Amino acid sequence: MEIIHDNEMSSDLYNIDYSLEKFKDVFCKNLCEHNECSIIPIHISILKHYNYLLGYEYGDRILKKVIEKIKYRIEENGNMYRFGGSTLLVILNESCKQKIIGIVETIIKDFNEPIKIKDKELKVFLNIGIVHYPEDSKEVHTIFKYIEIVLDGVKKKYKNTYRFLNHKMVQKHIKKCQYEKEILNAINNGEFKIYYQSIVDISNKSICSFEALLRWNHPKDGIIMPLDFIDILESSGIIIDVGKFIFKEVCNEIKNIKKLAKRDISVSINVSECQLLDDTFLEFIDETLDKTEVEAKNINLEIIERSMLESTEKTLNVLKELKSRGFGVIIDDFGTKYSALNYLCNFPISGFKIDKFFIEKIPNSYKEAIVLKNIIQLAKELGIDVVAEGVERVEQLEFLQSVNCNKIQGFIFSKPFPCEELYKEKFDLGGIFVPLPLN
Ligand code: C2E
Ligand code: CA
Ligand code: CA
Repeated sequence: MEIIHDNEMSSDLYNIDYSLEKFKDVFCKNLCEHNECSIIPIHISILKHYNYLLGYEYGDRILKKVIEKIKYRIEENGNMYRFGGSTLLVILNESCKQKIIGIVETIIKDFNEPIKIKDKELKVFLNIGIVHYPEDSKEVHTIFKYIEIVLDGVKKKYKNTYRFLNHKMVQKHIKKCQYEKEILNAINNGEFKIYYQSIVDISNKSICSFEALLRWNHPKDGIIMPLDFIDILESSGIIIDVGKFIFKEVCNEIKNIKKLAKRDISVSINVSECQLLDDTFLEFIDETLDKTEVEAKNINLEIIERSMLESTEKTLNVLKELKSRGFGVIIDDFGTKYSALNYLCNFPISGFKIDKFFIEKIPNSYKEAIVLKNIIQLAKELGIDVVAEGVERVEQLEFLQSVNCNKIQGFIFSKPFPCEELYKEKFDLGGIFVPLPLN
């Protein structure tokens, strides 16, 4: 059975096109000979981040180690190829589901331990999809489409996972393709709506701000959540126009909220990296603030941690400009990636949001609780604001209170709601009475 040899592996390691051609050749040979096989794309979900964080030299070494380990497990049973920067493709000459599961689970088990590169121990996560030939399809181009679909369905950033291609994934993909077309007109058709979720300051039991969260009110499917369409907006660049629409809408709403609350309340707006890179962004927000007579201090701009990590000089300059205008600049999803303490000192930020991924682990996980307690203390001493996000349970709330994290966002108080709800007289939020002083 043909397998990548060490000297071949090094050329395949760097030449993705060449590797993919070889995959097609072998797969077509299987097709002609009617050999049953499994096509197994393996995505190394964290490789890109190691490239950014440690440099490409480490990234290449990690990739090589991963290839060696997988190769050892597939032995003479298959071939391995590259399928894009962080993805490998295995053709396994095996059609028995139990045997395939056995091999895949052994590979995953191998990666439960970190990989040693030079002096570092690095955790690597694999997302593995399984497509079966001929059961899933007999067509080369359909198999290729299924490879993408199964990878999409299995991707979880910080977990080793595997899944067989299934009908639900294919349906979801078809839906996504439909949304890709329909979303082009959504802004003109007035289908985007903004929901608001309160952020509560538990030290005085009042709402200190809201986060604006986008919803798509689809004419047939009803309210669609951002996770089902934000990617489409970002990859197509439509997010730039939608982002402008959100900014304008929120500015108009801030005026109403302040009038009703008779005090300063800020609203957080999520900003994608491509918006920061758009040359018209700063000019647009200056103009909008002018027109709506809203002050920058009433707006926080939330930027996800990844954009900070991968930030270019241009993004950093835009962030500095925003901070100097008086906007709050918040790192969103803090704790999901490599929360370099470096940002807390060197980046123009005014606060960060601890992601729900982290909050879910407290108070039961001792290590996370210690890290959280100290990060909150550190932020306090540096004069940086901290919000805990995704707080659902009383134990979490009590823990956060005990470590002086007073700003809380989560279902424990309120889900996101359309702004009409905001103008109701008061909220009885999850048993804790948090009045919004109206009149
Ligand atoms: P995010 O910025 O991290 O927003 C917080 C998400 O957590 C929201 O999901 C919110 O509904 C959810 N959440 C809040 N508290 C809880 C809780 O206690 N439990 C649970 N399970 N979830 C909670 P949502 O609205 O579905 O938004 C998902 C993501 O979509 C946002 O994550 C953000 O990354 C993106 N997004 C939403 N609106 C916009 C937008 O206007 N622009 C951009 N660029 N991205 C947006
Ligand atoms: Ca956010
Ligand atoms: Ca977040």
